[in-house]
Amino acid sequence: MSSKIAIVGTPCQILAATKINKYEEYTGGSNIDVKIGLFCMENFSYSYLKRYLKEQGIELFEVKEFRIEKGQFIASLIDGNIFQIPIAETSIFTRKNCYICTDYTSDVSDISVGSIGSPENHSTVIVRTEKGKKIIDNAIKKGYIKAEPLSKKGEKLLTNIANKKISRNTKTIQKREAVARPVLSKRKLSENEFKNECQICQFENLQNDVISVGACVLCGACEFVCPIDSIQINHRKPVITQQCIKDCHACYFACPRTFVSNEVYDEYIDEKPLGDYIELLSVKSESIIGQDGGVVSAILVYLLENNIVDEVSIVRADKNSPWRPQSYLTSSIQDVVSAAGTKYSTAPIGFKALNDK
Ligand SMILES: Cc1cc2nc3c(=O)[nH]c(=O)nc-3n(C[C@H](O)[C@H](O)[C@H](O)COP(=O)(O)OP(=O)(O)OC[C@H]3O[C@@H](n4cnc5c(N)ncnc54)[C@H](O)[C@@H]3O)c2cc1C
Ligand code: SF4
Ligand code: SF4
Ligand code: SF4
Repeated sequence: MSSKIAIVGTPCQILAATKINKYEEYTGGSNIDVKIGLFCMENFSYSYLKRYLKEQGIELFEVKEFRIEKGQFIASLIDGNIFQIPIAETSIFTRKNCYICTDYTSDVSDISVGSIGSPENHSTVIVRTEKGKKIIDNAIKKGYIKAEPLSKKGEKLLTNIANKKISRNTKTIQKREAVARPVLSKRKLSENEFKNECQICQFENLQNDVISVGACVLCGACEFVCPIDSIQINHRKPVITQQCIKDCHACYFACPRTFVSNEVYDEYIDEKPLGDYIELLSVKSESIIGQDGGVVSAILVYLLENNIVDEVSIVRADKNSPWRPQSYLTSSIQDVVSAAGTKYSTAPIGFKALNDK
């Protein structure tokens, strides 16, 4: 694993990448070197989204672009028409496990990117780590992106939206916990407690604690770390094909929906809606047209062209299923540029590309 990789992902995928690398001793680690997190209020079930649009007389292949803007879920169609509904009405195709997630701004990334808070055709960027800062500073210096400080108004809006996710989903967690099992990722555990818990768990526990209680986010981290390649994601659920080996707990350590220690998520993270950060910026790519400012793609191009990473993991649409995200690794600038834009759905992605390698 000598090559370095940059990944782009939703907060749950970025959390899984963080756990895989932090608990290398148990998971085998990964060559993920740079983590670019996306803001994320919720994600949608591909099949329910497809079915819902069909009921409205729209086929997914007729959609040119999806956007979430000013409280509306908007599909721009190839024929120039627009279909839009209030975001509150999207619950019919929202993934239910997203309602127990309180991370809006990818708190454990190197750099987080979203649209909220910045003007049109710009992205809001949260620089979190020294590594992230060096990347952003150099990408600005070399002309890949243009940045200015995020406005106070933008910061306030972003903070409000992040708080909205935390409070709405904390209520859902409380309701769920009143009648069902605890939401493990919300337990506050020390590093020792975390390891003690995970060291007695195998796939059977992952099945009971995460998969069968509807908490799996289909990130594919368990599939990636399994040393005997036993885990497969079939019918949108991880399953095993052979018995677990003795003393292996890799999948339980890596999963973003099992316990999270307070060394990964600060104990008071829910009181910091934007997480810990170095700076807040409003950023635009000089040349790439993306979902917002084209900033994620511009950063990836900077990383590749300057040999900071060897490959990047991005998402393209599945050839046979328009808008179904499919992750893959590439070192091609053209691939990165054509993968710009958001696919509002999830799939066993993120880590699948690393596994396929
Ligand atoms: C499911 C989802 C929900 C989001 N919700 C919000 C939100 O509530 N508020 C907000 O401000 N921003 C949200 N975003 C982020 C926003 O849509 C843009 O992705 C972000 O602003 C970056 O825009 P850009 O122009 O800089 O990126 P671009 O240059 O367009 O690049 C986008 C990158 O994201 C990758 N990507 C696209 N879809 C996915 C996916 N499903 N999973 C993983 N990677 C993907 C692409 O491969 C590409 O590299 C969400 C993104 C996703 C995927
Ligand atoms: S669980 Fe859902 S809301 Fe949370 S980060 Fe993942 S896709 Fe987004
Ligand atoms: S062997 Fe079992 S416990 Fe280990 S990663 Fe695979 S499924 Fe999980
Ligand atoms: S069970 Fe596997 S695919 Fe599901 S959230 Fe956990 S690691 Fe990701």
